[in-house]
Amino acid sequence: MTDSPTEYAKPTFRGDVTVELVKHSAADSDVLWAARVSTAGEQSLEEITKDPERSKGLINYLMRDRHGSPFEHNSMTFFISAPILVFREFMRHRVGWSYNEESGRYRELQPVFYVPGQDRKLVQEGRPGKYVFVEGSQEQHDLTTRVMEDSYRQAYEAYQEMLAAGVAREVARSVLPVGLFSSMYATCNARSLMHFLGLRTQHEQATVPSFPQREIEMVGEQMEAEWAKLMPLTYAAFNKNGRVAP
Ligand SMILES: Cc1cc2nc3c(=O)[nH]c(=O)nc-3n(C[C@H](O)[C@H](O)[C@H](O)COP(=O)(O)OP(=O)(O)OC[C@H]3O[C@@H](n4cnc5c(N)ncnc54)[C@H](O)[C@@H]3O)c2cc1C
Repeated sequence: MTDSPTEYAKPTFRGDVTVELVKHSAADSDVLWAARVSTAGEQSLEEITKDPERSKGLINYLMRDRHGSPFEHNSMTFFISAPILVFREFMRHRVGWSYNEESGRYRELQPVFYVPGQDRKLVQEGRPGKYVFVEGSQEQHDLTTRVMEDSYRQAYEAYQEMLAAGVAREVARSVLPVGLFSSMYATCNARSLMHFLGLRTQHEQATVPSFPQREIEMVGEQMEAEWAKLMPLTYAAFNKNGRVAP
């Protein structure tokens, strides 16, 4: 706790999100092993390296026909730093995900806030369900930056004022906005990640287009890049089959 409002860290602003793959046990061979137990029983582990083309074909068949469970025998843990507004959407994904997020009750929240970068399209056009985002003018960008930063500073000062007066963190945090950065560990498997990516990214190969908020898509894109390196055959089959989770 700080004694006076002048001692606390001053707000900082950022327009990016970060995703780090901290732990994984995930490979295309996990899919093959799980699928081949159906026919090869305990011998299935030996089958993996025998015929690479057949392996690729099998993964594609499983994806196409939506035999999903062989894609669950793997694990990836990501450390994600993003604004609370992203986590609010993220945690709607209930199946095949485990989450642990930093606490606003047990620690003082740090003043890092989201301000959209210059490349963030600012203006929504069209009706809900059928709208597009277009570039904002420089004036709109300047206004957004100024208004957000002023608002964040005011909110964080109010938070600090309450902490300095002895108010509990869990009460004082009520004044902090959803643009505040948080961090969490999120663990998933390839099947649950594919479901997430199908809904939270826009991609030219998607046969069922989605219209996610750009900030959660930024997280999704970084997770996708990590996963693609771990399971290239599964990743290729996901794209080839329209980015629909099996
Ligand atoms: C573009 C976009 C806009 C959205 N807008 C809103 C919004 O305005 N308001 C809002 O509240 N949410 C909104 N959402 C969240 C959305 O409704 C889902 O909660 C979220 O996408 C998670 O999807 P999911 O339930 O399929 O995932 P998961 O919870 O991971 O579930 C995976 C799958 O398991 C099955 N399943 C899980 N739970 C159940 C259950 N209880 N009963 C039956 N089957 C189940 C379903 O097949 C489901 O697809 C939006 C999502 C997107 C992508």
